[in-house]
Amino acid sequence: MKFNFNVPPYTGKEAEYIGQAVKNQKICGDGEFTKKCSRWIEEKTGTKKCLLTTSCTHATELAALLLDIQPGDEVIMPSYTFVSTANAFVLRGAVPVFVDIRPDTMNMDEKLIEAAITEKTRAIVPVHYAGVSCEMDVIMDIAKRHNLYVVEDAAQGVMSSYKGKALGTFGEFGCFSFHETKNYSMGEGGALLIRDEAFVERAEIIREKGTDRSKYARGEVDKYTWRDFGSSYLPSDMNAAYLYAQLEVAEEINNARLAIWNCYDKALAPLADKGRIELPVVPEDCVHNAHMFYIKTADIEERAALISFLKENEIWAVSHYIPLHTAPAGREHGRFHGEDRYTTRESERLLRLPMYYKLRPEDAVYISGKVKEFYGMED
Ligand SMILES: *Cc1c(COP(=O)(O)O)cnc(C)c1O
Repeated sequence: MKFNFNVPPYTGKEAEYIGQAVKNQKICGDGEFTKKCSRWIEEKTGTKKCLLTTSCTHATELAALLLDIQPGDEVIMPSYTFVSTANAFVLRGAVPVFVDIRPDTMNMDEKLIEAAITEKTRAIVPVHYAGVSCEMDVIMDIAKRHNLYVVEDAAQGVMSSYKGKALGTFGEFGCFSFHETKNYSMGEGGALLIRDEAFVERAEIIREKGTDRSKYARGEVDKYTWRDFGSSYLPSDMNAAYLYAQLEVAEEINNARLAIWNCYDKALAPLADKGRIELPVVPEDCVHNAHMFYIKTADIEERAALISFLKENEIWAVSHYIPLHTAPAGREHGRFHGEDRYTTRESERLLRLPMYYKLRPEDAVYISGKVKEFYGMED
């Protein structure tokens, strides 16, 4: 048997819906399927407004523009994240200030945020790693007391929640990704979730090349005009059609992923009990979406050996982020506040196992068996 690390989700309705979008002769942005996807996200998450975007990267850029992030402003975020979390703000001339992560969830340690705040700090950007929420009560309280904005990088957090509230709906803005590596996909795509009505009009304008074309499309103005700076962040309705086929059965995809995740967790528990590996931690207040299943090895050498062993068995397991503060652009544009106790060390131990919608629970048991074999443990 051969297992890729990821296989993009496919439900069977995608081609039909793309065909409908083509027949509608409305394949630019904000057509029927874009509206359906946005409405679905608004209803599912309870956010005030959802705007579909060309990527999560672009949703985060849009958030940075809406917050008027200026050169020299500081934005607090983890170093253990994807480059876009930082780049969206670096593009505005801001300085990412990285704080250490918690070793249990790999999320930014909420206890370290306050000490990193200076008079230049404008925003906090929590990243919900693996679809497991950051400690949002603490983060929102800090933001409120220091008058800071919160932009959630919820790229991996679609269908996850914290204390019953959807990820992406806590901060002023939440950013989703529908890249093909995520739980729900449109190839390339994302969404901006807007909590406050006050930001909606300007968000629509910036997303539509700085014009009020969204109002025009709704018949609220009789011609559209240049209103503000802006760019083009609308996905084609063909991409939205692909996504809608997946959102319609989101519950089914989510349950299938959770079943696989639980199989891994159970099958690998004996190894964890023996102290050979560590398993992911999902705090009590968090409902996750099984975006990822990772284990932690003793160190980077053991991880490399395990990757090779699994590869010999045609199982593609992969590491993840190289901490941004150690990368050339991270050193140039950002700084790490405090001590790097866990970011580098834990990132070197983390190994992601194959995880995708059509992986079967018995596949997870088989792959776990190979991991156990590597550690000399009989099934
Ligand atoms: C995937 C991902 C992104 C980028 O998403 P795109 O839609 O590819 O732009 C940003 N942040 C995190 C944490 C991600 O996992």
